[in-house]
Amino acid sequence: MPQLPSHAHYVVIGAGIHGLSTAMHLARKLAARGKTVGPAGTRIVALDKTAIGAGASGIACGVVRNNYYQPAMRELMAHCVSVWESDPEAYSYHPVGYLQISPESMHAQVGSIYEQQKAIGYESVFIEGEAECMRYMQGLLADWQAKNITSVLHEKRGGYANNMASLAGLARKARDAGVQIIEGVEVTSLHMSGGTGHVTAVATSAGVVGCDQVVVGVGPWVNSVWQMLDLPKTVTIKGRDGKRNDGIPMWHYMALQEGTLGVDPEYQKTNDGRMPPVIHVDTDAPLYSDRDGKLITDKMWGIYYKPDFHFGGVQGGAMPAVVDRPADEVRVDPYGPKSPEFVVTDNFADMWTSALAFCQKRFEGKHGVYRKEPSGGIGCFTPDSFPVIDRFRENVYVIADSNHGYKMIGVGDLVSDELLGATSALLEPFRFSRYAEGRLHPVSNSPFPWS
Ligand SMILES: Cc1cc2nc3c(=O)[nH]c(=O)nc-3n(C[C@H](O)[C@H](O)[C@H](O)COP(=O)(O)OP(=O)(O)OC[C@H]3O[C@@H](n4cnc5c(N)ncnc54)[C@H](O)[C@@H]3O)c2cc1C
Repeated sequence: MPQLPSHAHYVVIGAGIHGLSTAMHLARKLAARGKTVGPAGTRIVALDKTAIGAGASGIACGVVRNNYYQPAMRELMAHCVSVWESDPEAYSYHPVGYLQISPESMHAQVGSIYEQQKAIGYESVFIEGEAECMRYMQGLLADWQAKNITSVLHEKRGGYANNMASLAGLARKARDAGVQIIEGVEVTSLHMSGGTGHVTAVATSAGVVGCDQVVVGVGPWVNSVWQMLDLPKTVTIKGRDGKRNDGIPMWHYMALQEGTLGVDPEYQKTNDGRMPPVIHVDTDAPLYSDRDGKLITDKMWGIYYKPDFHFGGVQGGAMPAVVDRPADEVRVDPYGPKSPEFVVTDNFADMWTSALAFCQKRFEGKHGVYRKEPSGGIGCFTPDSFPVIDRFRENVYVIADSNHGYKMIGVGDLVSDELLGATSALLEPFRFSRYAEGRLHPVSNSPFPWS
């Protein structure tokens, strides 16, 4: 049984991207203020019920991008990209760039993303018009053939990182800064003081730890910690029309669908022999099966993909599938590819490999090398599918990223500032109070809940 201290100044629940990043930044900032971090000084303990990377961060595709229609998301992501860029080696980050390739229904919105990227100094190129887009894409990848594309946003920054390698880098930095990471310890309840609900201790499978502050970064398990905090199962949202919408479930789940085509990653090199940017395509052109020619969909659809040596092929995904049941009835464990319920089906493989062939000739007839292994995982989403990053019960900081989050490595940096008394303007748009106050983020025309 792991040995726990009887008290820690900061208890971090979850050793995924957010828990580790927050702990590491907090420890470094305390040290910069002359504090000793560790058993002899300010104690930061990160607890994980399984292990570092046992949640969504450990299976994430790893795409890092700025492409968001919501100004607040874009500004936050620009900060996160700069944290990835601060130590690409330790974070196993590949700055290959990112392409958002869209149909006419998204043209104007993506154009406004480009304008606002210019305004915040985030380097990108915007191509408009069907013929121009085809020319630009074929200049990069000669076999490009996707139809109904009228804009291409090429973000020169961003790219992808290798999930477990980046977590190992973060964990190493956190430990070096004095953080104690304890694996195999599950937080089972929170002791709250009668009056304010202030959390005085964290009860775990290995004993009780008294605490001053708690940080919650539990990804898909957030509904269970939300219940420990006795927070509401439903919320009232003031709509854009000013009307109150009562009884909206706080959490719902979706299943993220991802897979790997078992080709040599070098197979997807650009015309000039480089690794290509991460490609994200949305289109309203009908999609036909590359296997049997049948119509898969005539509705808007989207995919993303990248060559990746870590996954050993061309890896990517498509729109998530709705998990159509109340959050309390969703079994999160066993998580990810070990789940008996939430792994991708043959329909996903057919759709995704056909979509690859729709985009590039080199993928035609390649569905046979799709890796038939369990993949994907579920994510827990907020009512508007944007993060809630806020303090609850006075001393509990919850980072619920609504599944935007592997790329959000910089959130821990901002949260650690707030733990030390500052207020982050970048985090302000993500407070829980936005629902009741109607401070909602704009909604895009993308088929993904994350754009
Ligand atoms: C298949 C898939 C692909 C994705 N691809 C991308 C992508 O390309 N780019 C991107 O930006 N995002 C992506 N995401 C989303 C991203 O992975 C998540 O938003 C992010 O990793 C969440 O990080 P986290 O630190 O909050 O939680 P997690 O990484 O899930 O970590 C939570 C940790 O908390 C621990 N835990 C849970 N409950 C307890 C408890 N009671 N006591 C102690 N420990 C506990 C778990 O064991 C786990 O290790 C993807 C998600 C999935 C599922």
